[in-house]
Amino acid sequence: MPTLTQLCGARNLTSLRNPLTCKTTSTVVRQGPAAEKGGAPAWLLFLCPEHVNTLPDWPGDPADVDDLSSMTCGAVLDFRSTDQVLQSHADLWLTPLTGVDPKMYITADKWADVLDQAHRALAEQPDRAEGESEPLNSLLMMLGIAAKNAAMGDLYQATVPLAFCETVAPRLL
Ligand SMILES: [Zn+2]
Repeated sequence: MPTLTQLCGARNLTSLRNPLTCKTTSTVVRQGPAAEKGGAPAWLLFLCPEHVNTLPDWPGDPADVDDLSSMTCGAVLDFRSTDQVLQSHADLWLTPLTGVDPKMYITADKWADVLDQAHRALAEQPDRAEGESEPLNSLLMMLGIAAKNAAMGDLYQATVPLAFCETVAPRLL
């Protein structure tokens, strides 16, 4: 059975994501389809026994790993390209939450436009019910930072605040 380090290999981690908030230590890991046949998994999602069947938007096979004890449930190690990680954020929460679809943008600055428009759309949404304004405000702030990163040409940097937004987004969807 490989260790976690062996499964990650020599690849760079693009993004550390947390689509699910759970403090329990993980016991299983789900692996995303490899980019090339026979290659290493595109991402690794860690889950506890209670959440083993959650997150259907992260489909993948269970992986045999020796040493999971250091990862908490809901964490994702994402090794995909920056563009693929951005598209994944769009598919999973950004487009459902804001209505801004990257497929509608074909310019060279596509992601800068998408994030800027998404930020505007979210800011213009009507007042949220009690309990939703706090996550909305923190998401708005972080999405604004991501939009600024993208406008300055640093898409990789934009994935950092977007990972935070993803953790907050389920409270608004
Ligand atoms: Zn859990």
